Amino acid sequence: MSLYHSDLYKDALAQMEVAASAMNADPNVIERLRYPKRAITVSIPIRLDDGTVKTFEGYRVQHNMTLGPGKGGIRFHPDVDESETAALAMLMTFKCALVGLPLGGAKGGVRVDPNQLSRQELQALSRRYATEIGPFIGPDKDIPAPDIGTDRQTMAWIMDTYSQIHGYASHGVVTGKPISVGGSLGREEATGRGVAYCVNFAYEKLNKKVDENITVAIHGFGKVGMPAAVDLVEQGAKIVAVSDVSCAVYDPSGLNIPKLIDWVKERKLLKDYPYYDKITNAQLLELDVDVLIPAAIDGVVTEKNMKNIKAKLIAEGANGPLNKDAVEYLSNKDVFIIPDILCNAGGVIVSYFEWVQGLAHFFWDIDQINKTLHAILKNAFDEVYEKAEFYKVDMKKAAMIAALAKLEAAMKLRGLFPG
Ligand code: GLU
Repeated sequence: MSLYHSDLYKDALAQMEVAASAMNADPNVIERLRYPKRAITVSIPIRLDDGTVKTFEGYRVQHNMTLGPGKGGIRFHPDVDESETAALAMLMTFKCALVGLPLGGAKGGVRVDPNQLSRQELQALSRRYATEIGPFIGPDKDIPAPDIGTDRQTMAWIMDTYSQIHGYASHGVVTGKPISVGGSLGREEATGRGVAYCVNFAYEKLNKKVDENITVAIHGFGKVGMPAAVDLVEQGAKIVAVSDVSCAVYDPSGLNIPKLIDWVKERKLLKDYPYYDKITNAQLLELDVDVLIPAAIDGVVTEKNMKNIKAKLIAEGANGPLNKDAVEYLSNKDVFIIPDILCNAGGVIVSYFEWVQGLAHFFWDIDQINKTLHAILKNAFDEVYEKAEFYKVDMKKAAMIAALAKLEAAMKLRGLFPG
C-alpha cells in the first residue's frame, strides 16, 4: 500500500495531467501538485463499552497550502485508507482554488464503520483522533469539516478537544459545527443547495429551465442528496428515484420528498419504506431521467455501466462519482457533466463563511449566506463554462484548467522554498 495506489488517486492525477497539457501548464508546478505536501497516519486506541481496547487507523493529508490553510472533511468509513484520503485532499486543493477561496486542500479519515460504535465510543474515537492530528490542525493551519460518516456532533467534539488543549474556545478550528457552538446558518444544506444552483446554471446555458417537466434521480439520499432534492422540488422538478445503502425507491410520477426525509431522519432504511417500488442502486443510475445526481460515493459510474447511462445532465454531488473513462465517454455523447469540484463546492464555500464568522466572532443571517454562496458558485460556473468554450474541452477538464490556472499563478508568485 502506498499513498498513490488507489484508483481515486490515479484518476485525480490523470485528470490533472490532461488539463495541464490542454492549457500548457508549467511542468514544474504540475510536478509539485502530483504529491501531497504532508500525510500523517495515526493510531487511535479507544476503550470500547465492554472494557477492551481497540485501535483504529486514522489519517490527515494536506495536499497543497499555497492559497491558505488546509481545508477538507474527515471521513469515517471502513474502506478509507491513506491513498483515498490523499486523492480527496488533492480534489480539495482544486475545489478551493476553483471557487476562489483563500484555502488549501486537505482531508482526513478514520478506517472505521461508525454504525458499529456506540455514541460514547464514537466520542472517544473523535477526541483521540483530534488529539493525534492536533499538532497539524488549527485556525491558521488546517481546518477540518464533516464528510461521509461524520457530522456536526463529531465537529463539536473535535472543537472541544482542541479548545481544551489550547485553553480557549476555538471557533476557527473546524467548520460544520452546531450553531450553538459557533456553526454557520446554512452549512448543513450548503452542499445540496449548491448542487441545485448548479443544475439551474447548467439549464440556463442549455436554454432550458427547471420545471415540472424535469425528472431527477438522486443516488445517495443523505447530507447532499436531501437538500438538493428539497430545492429542486421547490422549483417544480419531479424527483422520481432516491437511494440509500439498502435500495432505491422509484415512482415515475414523482416521490413525496418531505415524507421520505422524515423516514430517513428516523434512521430508517428505504428498503423498509412501505410505499413505492424498490429498485437497486445500479438500476437508479441507469434510469431514463433528465438529471442524474450521484451524491453518495466515488466510482459509481465507470466503464462497467457508462454505456447504460441515459441522463442528459449529470451533477456530481459526491467527490469523484464518475471515473475518467466514464467522463470521457459520456461527454463525447453530449452529456452535460457538472464536475464535482464545482458542483459540490457549496459545502466548502459555506465552511469558509463559517471560518470567517468564527474568526470575526460576528455571524451572518441566512439571506447573506445564500446570496453570497449563489454569487460565488455562479461566478465559478461561468468561468468553467468559458474555459470549456475557449479550450474546446468538456466541463470536467475546464474546471481543472480553471483551478490549475489559479494555483499556477500563486505557486509561481510564492516561488519554491528554499529557492
Ligand atoms: N467534505 C466536504 C467536501 O468534500 C466539505 C469540506 C469542508 O467543508 O471543508 O467538500
